Amino acid sequence: MKRRDFLKIAAMVPVAAAVDPLALAQNPPARPPQGPPPGGFPGGFPGRNAGPAVYEPTGPGIRVRFLGTGGADWRGPAANGDLRRHASILADGKVLFDFTASAADMIPAGLRPEVIFYTHSHDDHYDPAAALELGPRRVYVGATWFDRAKEDFRKASEKSGKPVPEILPVSLGQPIEEQGLTVTALPANHASNFVEEETLIYLIEKDSTRLLYATDTGGLTARAAGYAGIGQFSRSRKFLTGIIMEATMSMDYPEPDFRMFSHSSVAMVRDTVQVLAKNRRYIPVEGQKVWLTHLAKAYHTTQAELDQAVPDPLKYAYDGLEVLFP
Ligand SMILES: [Zn+2]
Ligand SMILES: [Zn+2]
Repeated sequence: MKRRDFLKIAAMVPVAAAVDPLALAQNPPARPPQGPPPGGFPGGFPGRNAGPAVYEPTGPGIRVRFLGTGGADWRGPAANGDLRRHASILADGKVLFDFTASAADMIPAGLRPEVIFYTHSHDDHYDPAAALELGPRRVYVGATWFDRAKEDFRKASEKSGKPVPEILPVSLGQPIEEQGLTVTALPANHASNFVEEETLIYLIEKDSTRLLYATDTGGLTARAAGYAGIGQFSRSRKFLTGIIMEATMSMDYPEPDFRMFSHSSVAMVRDTVQVLAKNRRYIPVEGQKVWLTHLAKAYHTTQAELDQAVPDPLKYAYDGLEVLFP
Protein backbone atom coordinates (compact mmCIF):
# COMPACT_ATOMS: atom_id res chain seq x y z
CA MET A 1 0.00 0.00 0.00
CA LYS A 2 1.27 3.46 -0.87
CA ARG A 3 1.80 5.81 2.05
CA ARG A 4 -0.74 8.24 0.54
CA ASP A 5 -3.43 5.51 0.46
CA PHE A 6 -2.62 4.45 3.99
CA LEU A 7 -3.06 8.00 5.25
CA LYS A 8 -6.36 8.26 3.39
CA ILE A 9 -7.65 5.09 5.12
CA ALA A 10 -6.23 6.12 8.46
CA ALA A 11 -8.10 9.42 8.24
CA MET A 12 -11.38 7.54 7.70
CA VAL A 13 -11.05 5.49 10.92
CA PRO A 14 -12.99 7.21 13.71
CA VAL A 15 -11.33 7.84 17.03
CA ALA A 16 -12.09 4.88 19.33
CA ALA A 17 -14.89 5.65 21.75
CA ALA A 18 -15.33 3.96 25.11
CA VAL A 19 -16.74 0.50 24.41
CA ASP A 20 -18.52 -1.79 26.81
CA PRO A 21 -16.39 -4.96 26.55
CA LEU A 22 -19.30 -7.22 27.48
CA ALA A 23 -21.50 -5.77 24.72
CA LEU A 24 -18.58 -6.12 22.31
CA ALA A 25 -18.13 -9.78 23.23
CA GLN A 26 -21.84 -10.44 22.61
CA ASN A 27 -22.03 -8.48 19.35
CA PRO A 28 -18.58 -8.63 17.79
CA PRO A 29 -18.13 -6.28 14.82
CA ALA A 30 -17.95 -7.87 11.37
CA ARG A 31 -14.39 -8.97 10.69
CA PRO A 32 -12.62 -7.93 7.51
CA PRO A 33 -11.84 -10.88 5.21
CA GLN A 34 -8.88 -12.89 6.51
CA GLY A 35 -6.03 -14.52 4.67
CA PRO A 36 -3.37 -13.39 2.24
CA PRO A 37 -3.94 -10.29 0.07
CA PRO A 38 -5.23 -10.93 -3.47
CA GLY A 39 -2.32 -12.14 -5.57
CA GLY A 40 -0.45 -13.41 -2.49
CA PHE A 41 2.25 -11.86 -0.38
CA PRO A 42 4.72 -9.72 -2.35
CA GLY A 43 7.87 -11.74 -2.91
CA GLY A 44 6.19 -14.95 -1.72
CA PHE A 45 5.43 -16.11 1.81
CA PRO A 46 8.88 -16.97 3.14
CA GLY A 47 7.77 -19.51 5.74
CA ARG A 48 5.86 -21.58 3.21
CA ASN A 49 6.94 -24.68 1.37
CA ALA A 50 10.42 -24.28 2.68
CA GLY A 51 11.84 -27.75 3.09
CA PRO A 52 12.61 -30.52 0.59
CA ALA A 53 9.97 -33.01 -0.62
CA VAL A 54 11.35 -35.82 1.52
CA TYR A 55 13.77 -36.09 4.41
CA GLU A 56 16.78 -38.36 4.10
CA PRO A 57 18.62 -38.71 7.43
CA THR A 58 22.40 -38.42 7.29
CA GLY A 59 23.10 -40.02 10.68
CA PRO A 60 21.87 -42.63 13.15
CA GLY A 61 19.40 -40.24 14.80
CA ILE A 62 18.77 -39.33 18.43
CA ARG A 63 17.55 -42.00 20.84
CA VAL A 64 15.15 -40.68 23.48
CA ARG A 65 14.05 -42.45 26.62
CA PHE A 66 11.04 -40.91 28.33
CA LEU A 67 11.81 -41.04 32.05
CA GLY A 68 8.60 -39.23 32.95
CA THR A 69 5.54 -38.07 31.01
CA GLY A 70 3.35 -36.53 33.70
CA GLY A 71 2.32 -32.96 34.43
CA ALA A 72 2.77 -31.25 37.77
CA ASP A 73 -0.39 -32.76 39.28
CA TRP A 74 1.12 -36.24 39.24
CA ARG A 75 2.30 -36.58 42.84
CA GLY A 76 1.97 -40.36 43.07
CA PRO A 77 -0.10 -43.08 41.41
CA ALA A 78 -3.68 -42.56 40.21
CA ALA A 79 -6.61 -44.36 41.87
CA ASN A 80 -6.36 -47.15 39.24
CA GLY A 81 -2.65 -47.65 39.96
CA ASP A 82 -1.36 -45.85 36.84
CA LEU A 83 1.73 -43.74 37.36
CA ARG A 84 3.35 -40.98 35.35
CA ARG A 85 6.56 -39.52 36.70
CA HIS A 86 7.34 -35.84 36.19
CA ALA A 87 8.33 -35.00 32.62
CA SER A 88 11.93 -35.74 31.75
CA ILE A 89 13.81 -37.26 28.83
CA LEU A 90 17.23 -38.82 28.44
CA ALA A 91 18.80 -38.23 25.00
CA ASP A 92 21.33 -40.76 23.68
CA GLY A 93 21.75 -42.09 27.24
CA LYS A 94 23.85 -39.04 28.09
CA VAL A 95 21.90 -35.81 28.28
CA LEU A 96 18.89 -35.19 30.49
CA PHE A 97 16.26 -32.57 29.85
CA ASP A 98 14.79 -31.81 33.29
CA PHE A 99 15.12 -34.28 36.11
CA THR A 100 13.38 -34.80 39.42
CA ALA A 101 13.50 -37.48 42.11
CA SER A 102 10.29 -38.99 40.71
CA ALA A 103 12.11 -40.16 37.56
CA ALA A 104 15.32 -41.39 39.18
CA ASP A 105 14.25 -45.04 38.99
CA MET A 106 13.80 -44.75 35.20
CA ILE A 107 17.48 -44.20 34.46
CA PRO A 108 18.82 -47.54 33.20
CA ALA A 109 21.14 -49.28 35.65
CA GLY A 110 24.80 -48.45 35.13
CA LEU A 111 24.12 -45.19 33.29
CA ARG A 112 25.20 -41.88 34.74
CA PRO A 113 24.13 -38.98 32.52
CA GLU A 114 26.78 -36.27 32.43
CA VAL A 115 24.60 -33.29 31.69
CA ILE A 116 21.19 -31.81 32.58
CA PHE A 117 19.49 -29.02 30.66
CA TYR A 118 16.63 -27.45 32.59
CA THR A 119 13.59 -25.92 30.93
CA HIS A 120 12.50 -23.90 33.95
CA SER A 121 12.43 -23.87 37.73
CA HIS A 122 9.01 -25.40 38.46
CA ASP A 123 9.55 -28.27 40.87
CA ASP A 124 8.09 -30.87 38.52
CA HIS A 125 11.15 -30.19 36.28
CA TYR A 126 13.89 -28.89 38.53
CA ASP A 127 15.08 -30.66 41.67
CA PRO A 128 18.64 -29.75 42.74
CA ALA A 129 18.74 -32.42 45.47
CA ALA A 130 17.90 -35.15 42.93
CA ALA A 131 20.53 -33.77 40.55
CA LEU A 132 23.20 -33.92 43.26
CA GLU A 133 22.20 -37.50 44.03
CA LEU A 134 22.70 -38.37 40.34
CA GLY A 135 26.01 -36.53 40.11
CA PRO A 136 26.16 -34.99 36.60
CA ARG A 137 29.24 -33.02 35.59
CA ARG A 138 27.36 -30.02 34.25
CA VAL A 139 23.90 -28.51 34.48
CA TYR A 140 22.51 -25.76 32.27
CA VAL A 141 19.84 -23.29 33.33
CA GLY A 142 18.41 -20.21 31.66
CA ALA A 143 20.60 -17.11 32.03
CA THR A 144 17.64 -15.26 33.59
CA TRP A 145 17.71 -17.46 36.71
CA PHE A 146 21.34 -18.57 36.74
CA ASP A 147 22.13 -16.82 40.06
CA ARG A 148 19.11 -18.34 41.78
CA ALA A 149 20.04 -21.83 40.51
CA LYS A 150 23.59 -21.47 41.87
CA GLU A 151 22.14 -20.60 45.26
CA ASP A 152 19.65 -23.53 45.13
CA PHE A 153 22.43 -25.99 44.35
CA ARG A 154 24.69 -24.55 47.04
CA LYS A 155 21.95 -25.02 49.64
CA ALA A 156 21.14 -28.56 48.45
CA SER A 157 24.84 -29.41 48.61
CA GLU A 158 25.10 -28.08 52.17
CA LYS A 159 22.29 -30.42 53.16
CA SER A 160 23.45 -33.60 51.42
CA GLY A 161 27.21 -33.08 51.38
CA LYS A 162 27.28 -33.96 47.65
CA PRO A 163 29.46 -31.80 45.39
CA VAL A 164 27.90 -29.10 43.22
CA PRO A 165 28.26 -29.69 39.45
CA GLU A 166 29.40 -26.95 37.11
CA ILE A 167 26.39 -24.68 36.55
CA LEU A 168 26.23 -22.85 33.24
CA PRO A 169 23.81 -20.25 31.87
CA VAL A 170 22.10 -20.72 28.51
CA SER A 171 20.87 -17.90 26.31
CA LEU A 172 18.20 -18.04 23.63
CA GLY A 173 19.36 -19.23 20.25
CA GLN A 174 22.90 -20.04 21.39
CA PRO A 175 23.88 -23.59 20.32
CA ILE A 176 25.71 -25.66 22.95
CA GLU A 177 27.70 -28.78 22.03
CA GLU A 178 27.28 -31.58 24.56
CA GLN A 179 27.94 -35.31 24.22
CA GLY A 180 27.58 -35.30 20.43
CA LEU A 181 24.40 -33.25 20.53
CA THR A 182 23.85 -29.59 19.69
CA VAL A 183 21.34 -28.10 22.10
CA THR A 184 19.70 -24.72 21.51
CA ALA A 185 17.38 -22.98 23.96
CA LEU A 186 14.21 -21.42 22.54
CA PRO A 187 11.66 -19.32 24.41
CA ALA A 188 8.64 -21.17 25.81
CA ASN A 189 5.19 -19.71 26.32
CA HIS A 190 5.15 -20.43 30.02
CA ALA A 191 5.99 -18.80 33.33
CA SER A 192 7.49 -20.05 36.55
CA ASN A 193 6.80 -18.48 39.93
CA PHE A 194 9.44 -15.86 39.05
CA VAL A 195 8.10 -13.49 36.42
CA GLU A 196 11.57 -12.44 35.26
CA GLU A 197 12.50 -16.03 34.41
CA GLU A 198 12.49 -16.81 30.69
CA THR A 199 11.33 -20.41 30.51
CA LEU A 200 12.77 -22.59 27.76
CA ILE A 201 12.09 -25.34 25.30
CA TYR A 202 14.92 -27.02 23.39
CA LEU A 203 16.01 -27.84 19.88
CA ILE A 204 18.23 -30.94 19.96
CA GLU A 205 20.32 -31.62 16.87
CA LYS A 206 22.67 -34.34 15.65
CA ASP A 207 23.70 -34.75 11.99
CA SER A 208 20.50 -33.99 10.05
CA THR A 209 18.20 -34.80 12.98
CA ARG A 210 16.41 -31.76 14.42
CA LEU A 211 14.25 -32.74 17.38
CA LEU A 212 12.08 -30.25 19.26
CA TYR A 213 11.49 -30.93 22.96
CA ALA A 214 8.68 -28.54 23.88
CA THR A 215 7.53 -28.61 27.51
CA ASP A 216 6.20 -26.59 29.28
CA THR A 217 4.67 -24.29 26.68
CA GLY A 218 1.35 -23.06 25.40
CA GLY A 219 1.82 -23.75 21.71
CA LEU A 220 4.93 -22.79 19.79
CA THR A 221 5.68 -19.08 19.87
CA ALA A 222 6.68 -17.18 16.76
CA ARG A 223 9.99 -16.31 18.43
CA ALA A 224 10.74 -19.95 19.22
CA ALA A 225 10.00 -20.88 15.62
CA GLY A 226 12.22 -18.02 14.48
CA TYR A 227 15.16 -19.16 16.63
CA ALA A 228 14.74 -22.69 15.25
CA GLY A 229 14.74 -21.32 11.70
CA ILE A 230 11.23 -22.64 11.02
CA GLY A 231 9.18 -19.50 11.51
CA GLN A 232 6.80 -17.68 9.24
CA PHE A 233 9.55 -15.22 8.36
CA SER A 234 12.52 -17.59 8.42
CA ARG A 235 14.54 -17.34 5.22
CA SER A 236 16.29 -20.68 5.68
CA ARG A 237 15.08 -24.04 4.38
CA LYS A 238 15.40 -25.55 7.85
CA PHE A 239 12.80 -27.95 9.19
CA LEU A 240 12.20 -30.18 12.20
CA THR A 241 12.52 -33.94 11.81
CA GLY A 242 11.05 -34.87 15.21
CA ILE A 243 8.65 -33.36 17.73
CA ILE A 244 7.98 -34.09 21.39
CA MET A 245 5.43 -31.65 22.72
CA GLU A 246 3.49 -31.25 25.88
CA ALA A 247 -0.27 -31.84 25.99
CA THR A 248 -1.08 -30.95 29.55
CA MET A 249 -4.73 -30.68 28.53
CA SER A 250 -6.73 -33.23 26.60
CA MET A 251 -8.40 -32.68 23.22
CA ASP A 252 -11.64 -31.23 24.57
CA TYR A 253 -10.89 -30.54 28.20
CA PRO A 254 -14.03 -29.52 30.04
CA GLU A 255 -13.31 -26.05 31.32
CA PRO A 256 -10.54 -23.64 30.36
CA ASP A 257 -8.50 -22.44 33.32
CA PHE A 258 -5.18 -20.62 33.80
CA ARG A 259 -3.38 -23.55 32.26
CA MET A 260 -4.43 -22.38 28.80
CA PHE A 261 -2.10 -19.38 29.24
CA SER A 262 0.94 -21.58 29.65
CA HIS A 263 0.25 -25.11 28.43
CA SER A 264 -0.96 -26.92 25.32
CA SER A 265 -3.93 -29.16 24.66
CA VAL A 266 -3.89 -32.14 22.31
CA ALA A 267 -5.83 -30.02 19.79
CA MET A 268 -3.19 -27.31 19.95
CA VAL A 269 -0.40 -29.80 19.30
CA ARG A 270 -2.38 -31.29 16.40
CA ASP A 271 -2.82 -27.83 14.84
CA THR A 272 0.83 -26.87 15.44
CA VAL A 273 2.00 -30.03 13.70
CA GLN A 274 -0.42 -29.47 10.81
CA VAL A 275 0.86 -25.95 10.19
CA LEU A 276 4.51 -26.96 10.36
CA ALA A 277 3.98 -30.00 8.13
CA LYS A 278 1.93 -28.09 5.55
CA ASN A 279 4.66 -25.48 5.27
CA ARG A 280 7.46 -28.09 5.06
CA ARG A 281 8.84 -26.99 8.43
CA TYR A 282 8.30 -30.44 9.90
CA ILE A 283 9.37 -33.31 7.67
CA PRO A 284 9.63 -36.62 9.51
CA VAL A 285 10.53 -39.97 8.02
CA GLU A 286 7.46 -41.87 6.96
CA GLY A 287 5.30 -43.21 9.77
CA GLN A 288 7.03 -41.27 12.52
CA LYS A 289 4.85 -40.08 15.38
CA VAL A 290 4.69 -36.82 17.29
CA TRP A 291 4.97 -37.78 20.94
CA LEU A 292 2.86 -36.12 23.63
CA THR A 293 4.19 -35.68 27.15
CA HIS A 294 3.55 -33.70 30.37
CA LEU A 295 0.03 -35.10 30.55
CA ALA A 296 -2.00 -33.75 33.47
CA LYS A 297 -3.53 -36.35 35.72
CA ALA A 298 -6.73 -34.26 35.83
CA TYR A 299 -7.28 -34.34 32.05
CA HIS A 300 -6.05 -37.68 30.78
CA THR A 301 -7.31 -41.20 31.38
CA THR A 302 -5.49 -44.51 31.09
CA GLN A 303 -2.85 -45.13 28.42
CA ALA A 304 -5.08 -47.74 26.74
CA GLU A 305 -7.98 -45.30 26.44
CA LEU A 306 -5.72 -42.49 25.29
CA ASP A 307 -4.18 -44.66 22.57
CA GLN A 308 -7.61 -45.25 21.05
CA ALA A 309 -8.62 -41.62 20.68
CA VAL A 310 -5.58 -39.76 19.45
CA PRO A 311 -5.42 -38.20 15.96
CA ASP A 312 -2.56 -39.43 13.79
CA PRO A 313 0.39 -38.66 13.82
CA LEU A 314 0.08 -37.85 17.53
CA LYS A 315 0.82 -40.54 20.14
CA TYR A 316 0.91 -40.50 23.91
CA ALA A 317 4.32 -41.23 25.37
CA TYR A 318 4.59 -43.22 28.58
CA ASP A 319 7.30 -43.65 31.19
CA GLY A 320 10.06 -45.95 29.97
CA LEU A 321 9.17 -45.55 26.27
CA GLU A 322 12.21 -45.39 23.97
CA VAL A 323 11.96 -43.75 20.56
CA LEU A 324 14.61 -43.29 17.86
CA PHE A 325 14.22 -40.00 16.02
CA PRO A 326 16.00 -40.34 12.66
ZN1 LIG B 1 5.50 -28.83 34.27
ZN1 LIG C 1 5.99 -25.41 34.43
